[in-house]
Amino acid sequence: GQSVCSPLPVLGRDVTVPLVTGGEVTYAALDYAASAPALQRVWDDVAAYAPYYGSVHRGAGYLSQLSTDLFENSRAAVAEFLDCREGDQVVFTRSTTDSLNLLATALPAGCQVFVFETEHHASLLPWQDARVTYLDAPRTPGQAVEALERALADRDPYGPALVCVTGASNVTGELWPVRELAAAAHAHGARIVLDAAQLAPHHPVSVRDLDVDWVAFSGHKLYAPFGSGVLAGRADWLRDAAPYLAGGGASRKVARRADGGVDVEWHTTAARHEAGSPNVIGAYAIASACKALTEAGFDGLVARERHLIGTVRAGLAEVPEVRVLSLFGDEAPRVGVISFVVRGWNSSHFAAALSAEYGIGVRDGLFCAHPLVRTLLGGDPQDAGECGAPDGGTTSLNAIRVSFGAGTPDEHVDRFVRAVKELVRDGARWNYRTEDGRCVP
Ligand code: PMP
Repeated sequence: GQSVCSPLPVLGRDVTVPLVTGGEVTYAALDYAASAPALQRVWDDVAAYAPYYGSVHRGAGYLSQLSTDLFENSRAAVAEFLDCREGDQVVFTRSTTDSLNLLATALPAGCQVFVFETEHHASLLPWQDARVTYLDAPRTPGQAVEALERALADRDPYGPALVCVTGASNVTGELWPVRELAAAAHAHGARIVLDAAQLAPHHPVSVRDLDVDWVAFSGHKLYAPFGSGVLAGRADWLRDAAPYLAGGGASRKVARRADGGVDVEWHTTAARHEAGSPNVIGAYAIASACKALTEAGFDGLVARERHLIGTVRAGLAEVPEVRVLSLFGDEAPRVGVISFVVRGWNSSHFAAALSAEYGIGVRDGLFCAHPLVRTLLGGDPQDAGECGAPDGGTTSLNAIRVSFGAGTPDEHVDRFVRAVKELVRDGARWNYRTEDGRCVP
């Protein structure tokens, strides 16, 4: 097929890796859903700033002032990227996991939480201290909305409630009906947080249009792999909550009391939850990525990704042994995240073969979404299982995931499709010892 537009320049395009068959090949990074490569632009911005690095909010010196400005401007750039409302806060965290755990500590007393079993563990697990209702996997986006409405209709209408939902699945890549779920939540007096870890790298996310109360995402999946994440949205619950971390930067005034204790006045801004010296490079890198994606234009990025998705799905459809995992069906809109199993193959061995014989990096396992993958594979969602453990057999309860995005050239997905066809045709040519990452003939 015809390329819709050029891939954006990313790091790592020239990296070569050894093949088990001898020789070497350029690495095909097809695991964007775990971590995407850095945009060249992000790397350039970070490199240009690095000599000027200084402490944030802590120094009178020029470089400290500069770093403080860059850090605060990064917050503003993220707010703009997310189309935040007046008064929304942007808190810099370590990751999506960190962001959702932070929000979990900010729930009002008695808060009820509603979450689908299909969520990534980062969205599924932080709410254990609240009253959580887990909803079964829906089979259409409409069923998701209906199930949520039913659950919310049954709840205590006067107490606080939060819905947590993913924008795009890290397993199927399928888009969730976020706007409709947000409307349902609000109609029942509940709030909603969007896990945009897989959505934000692929589609514009507007807090205002989607009408979500909070959004969380990670820098390393948004082409900014410098250990930073974001929680953005309504200020009130965050302002009323105890600081996520206690320490300097979060406290405005600390004084000994007459009785010997300590009085603390905490900040009411995002700084309340950012104690300690913040990751200014990480925040700056996220802001740089936000600007680069906006400037490149999501229309072109989405069109190009649709072309890559088409290549992969059409290629896999030609292999009868391959089953692509899906909740919402073939026609559902999706991002470039595709999971599948191959009849006759252990998924871990298949992923090892893609790496060892073709230099293709994918992920295998249960993708930190155990209940969802087990449901998709027809296993028992109540069986905990080991994440990604190879079972040595051919009917393993794990899958293979290929994922890509803004920097992916056609050659990578073409090589992937060819590799799948050859491996299925020829069968295992090596003993794929995934435990220690080595292959032996
Ligand atoms: N949510 C989703 C949908 C994800 O795909 C991931 C990462 N796989 C996370 C949350 C967690 O992100 P992080 O590991 O950066 O905290």
